[in-house]
Amino acid sequence: MTPSALSNPAVRIRAHGGPEVLELHDAPVGEPGPGQLRIRHAAIGLNFIDVYQRTGLYPGELPRALGMEGAGVVEAIGAGVTHLAVGDRVAYAANPPGSYCLRRVMPAEHVCRLPEGIAFDTAAAMMLKGLTAQYLLRRTRPVEGLEAGDFVLWHAAAGGVGLIACQWARALGLQLIGTAGSAEKCALALAHGAAHAIDYRREDWVARVREITGGQGVKVVYDSVGKDTFEGSLDVLRPFGLMASFGNASGPVPPVAPGVLAAKGSLYLTRQTLFTHLRDRATTQAMADELFAVVADGRVKIRIDQRHALADVADAHRALEARATTGSSVLRP
Ligand code: NDP
Repeated sequence: MTPSALSNPAVRIRAHGGPEVLELHDAPVGEPGPGQLRIRHAAIGLNFIDVYQRTGLYPGELPRALGMEGAGVVEAIGAGVTHLAVGDRVAYAANPPGSYCLRRVMPAEHVCRLPEGIAFDTAAAMMLKGLTAQYLLRRTRPVEGLEAGDFVLWHAAAGGVGLIACQWARALGLQLIGTAGSAEKCALALAHGAAHAIDYRREDWVARVREITGGQGVKVVYDSVGKDTFEGSLDVLRPFGLMASFGNASGPVPPVAPGVLAAKGSLYLTRQTLFTHLRDRATTQAMADELFAVVADGRVKIRIDQRHALADVADAHRALEARATTGSSVLRP
């Protein structure tokens, strides 16, 4: 039987919309071309960016494959790929999307060999989220630098990226103030290394951050919630502080006039995407090596709180959008 004849369940959308537009179909795969490999997924990661792509907030050409994170075994290798071999255990975060499937032919550039001690599920739950925590905590710096003892604020601290960030920030000696949408989620953030946690659906979180920091404010806000938190986030920054906006779970941030940054304390604003950081193989591997190291030695534990079959991906999207999840969600092909 040729590989292209193998059944390959995959999820696509033919229209933007709610979870009901996610449809399972058969997407036969061929042999990898130059610079490509074919992976057989053992586990697939679910990310909030998949929701933005499904709804069309991040538009794309239709029909469209989804999913940007996965782990599995290399089944075939194209010409010119030297860093991997058939049979290797691997994992990746990669753009363009297309990980919601059993088999996939994709560029090898962003695929990394997985250390022996890291299971497929763990890898699929941590590549996109963990590399995001890596670039935000290690590569996105306020001008005044970030030192042990400094206060930072991290919204949605009990989520997939959030729980990794709580632990990594603790390992760096930072005092991370986490926000989360319930008492249980706050307890989870604290258990994973947040120095303080605030239920931002019930408390005046701006006042609480000021109180916790003795009126000084934080050096950096990491804000993936977007519309609902953006303005308050600027209000809790120290002078010359950094607003690292990196998502829109509550909706996109409206346009900002630069003068606002001056009025609120000569602030810096950056809006980055992981995929600018993953622009070449060397940078991708260096970032992944840091992530593998903190996971391998236990400084960061990857928490998988939701597991779904790929065929039930619509349920997984519903739960994520309803704020009914904690930690990471993994799909089984
Ligand atoms: P999460 O597991 O963190 O899920 C999103 C969380 O956002 C929810 O659990 C919820 O937590 C919170 N939230 C606040 N308001 C809303 C709302 N109105 N609707 C839904 N959720 C809301 O997801 P991920 O770990 O996958 O991603 C975290 C964020 O980081 C996302 O916004 C994502 O887009 C962004 N991201 C950005 C990247 C980049 O490079 N720019 C890369 C990776 C992720 P609670 O109930 O506690 O409020």
